[in-house]
Amino acid sequence: MKTIGILGGMSAASTQIYYRELCTRTRERLGGLHSPELLIRSLDFAVIEKLQMAGQWDQAGAILNREAKALQRGGADFLLLATNTMHKLADQMMQGISIPLLHIAEATAARIQAAGLRRPGLMATAFTMEQDFYTGRLIAAGLAPLLPEAADRAETHRIIYDELCRDIVTPQSQAAYVAIAERLVTRGADSLILGCTEVGMLLNQAKVRVPVFDTTLVHCDAALEMALGCQQE
Ligand code: GLU
Repeated sequence: MKTIGILGGMSAASTQIYYRELCTRTRERLGGLHSPELLIRSLDFAVIEKLQMAGQWDQAGAILNREAKALQRGGADFLLLATNTMHKLADQMMQGISIPLLHIAEATAARIQAAGLRRPGLMATAFTMEQDFYTGRLIAAGLAPLLPEAADRAETHRIIYDELCRDIVTPQSQAAYVAIAERLVTRGADSLILGCTEVGMLLNQAKVRVPVFDTTLVHCDAALEMALGCQQE
């Protein structure tokens, strides 16, 4: 079994989901007392969020690069960056690193392609929805992502930072997310990407009438594929 290096804490709320899901899925696959070989480096999200808001991306990238190197030194065989937004800095993060990064957008695009879908709605932070580092990857994979309208993008972003990253889940925000997802479907989305690692705290397949791709879960499945291959108990 390969050792998965997780660069997380962005936010801590979703890194907990990664840990739980990786453990559950490994047990389901291998049975018995099996659990995944992991290294988790959990950063202080207040520091990262401040740099994001100030547009100091270079400094944030330097932190990711330093911590990715620490995970490599610690024995990780490959890396997961447990946030969609910070994939904006994937190239900077991977400078001088020889182990691979399992890119969250590429893993997600591959799953959507395999399902024969093409026009995913995307709910994520404003950075992920409005800049091209993420949608560009989806387009390069042959998909045609559909973004929420401006007011819905702002509300999606606000709920992520003000609530979900603080582990706050409310019925009001859940209703707001269901409505935003429904407007994307009405406008032609044939699937929905939960393109922020916390969005699954409010939305799942039971609440949306097109196939849902939760990037946290897709990322965990792809990581286990890479870590376990076709390993059996
Ligand atoms: N976890 C989030 C994401 O997947 C947002 C927090 C961050 O900015 O890293 O984009």
